[in-house]
Amino acid sequence: MPLAFEKPMQNIKAFKDQLSQPRKVVILTHFKPDADALGSSLGLARYLKKKGHAVTVITPSDYPDFIAWMPGNEEVVIFQKDKPDRCAKLVADAEMIFCLDFSSLNRINEMGGMVREAGAKKVLVDHHLEPEHFADFEQWDGTAASTAELVYQLIVELDDQALVDGPMADCLYAGIMTDTGGFRHSNTNHKVFQIASDLVARGANPYKVSKLIYETNSLERLRLMGYVLWEKLQVLPEYKTAYIALTADELKRFGSQTGDTEGLVNFGLSIKGIKLSVIISDRRENIKLSLRSLGDFSVNEMARAHFQGGGHRNAAGGQTNLTLEQTVKKFLDLLPQYKDQLLAD
Ligand code: 5GP
Ligand code: MN
Repeated sequence: MPLAFEKPMQNIKAFKDQLSQPRKVVILTHFKPDADALGSSLGLARYLKKKGHAVTVITPSDYPDFIAWMPGNEEVVIFQKDKPDRCAKLVADAEMIFCLDFSSLNRINEMGGMVREAGAKKVLVDHHLEPEHFADFEQWDGTAASTAELVYQLIVELDDQALVDGPMADCLYAGIMTDTGGFRHSNTNHKVFQIASDLVARGANPYKVSKLIYETNSLERLRLMGYVLWEKLQVLPEYKTAYIALTADELKRFGSQTGDTEGLVNFGLSIKGIKLSVIISDRRENIKLSLRSLGDFSVNEMARAHFQGGGHRNAAGGQTNLTLEQTVKKFLDLLPQYKDQLLAD
């Protein structure tokens, strides 16, 4: 079956016109970028550079070491670390701003206002539910497993597959691999494999990418994992729910780096009979929640309604400005109202 896209960009002709001359481009992705956010951004950046555009990737915050190997990483401008003034100028001077792997401007924190006010043409490339329509061009598909897939789709729509080289393919493959949980989540479908296969044909190295992302732990991270599983994982069979709450001191004790808690939430979900798993961590600046579910139970809805967040039906995130204890209580107090949904089968 040939590769077919259900949601092509509506105004692709105007988009092509925009790109028909060299542009000053900024690519932005969300706060605390994951492999899909960074991989899709660096993959797209490499493509646009090949087309003759001047491209800068900006991330609102730092990101984990296990994704920092991606080609182009050394040129990423980090808003929190590099001068915010420099980012403001890049955004204000840009002719095109690509927003990747987030669907509302509050996901880029202080940078949201800058983007809203910028005169550039805005392009959204994303797969999160309920997008805020702030962009002039949208490559959006809520059924896509990853943003990396949508970047590949965009390149195909622009008839430029031949420009996809090994480093670009590795970046995009990393996004697809991680957002499908290593080709295991319910979003893993035929199209995912078709695109992944195309990327491997064009030079992506699945062994290298999975080794770098999944099997490059620090000892501290493994110790944190052991501690969490032994002492912190709580199970509430009456709600088919598991949760973990981590204090700032615990995170400090294990020398926790950005990304060290990623994936821990999946342990809870792997327990037989569990349908909802949540990790609540005290990040000092706020309390961060990471939610996962199985089947029809929508953590997107839960995160959106109660934790200033959102995401996908089975994977979402959010935050509060409460204390850790208050946040845990808030979460536990919500469970009775979701009991019927959690117990339904
Ligand atoms: P994670 O739990 O791995 O941080 O995120 C799971 C999914 O939810 C990802 O697709 C991520 O982009 C999204 N997400 C995480 N935190 C937030 C948030 O605060 N707001 C929204 N809208 N989405 C989030
Ligand atoms: Mn994604």
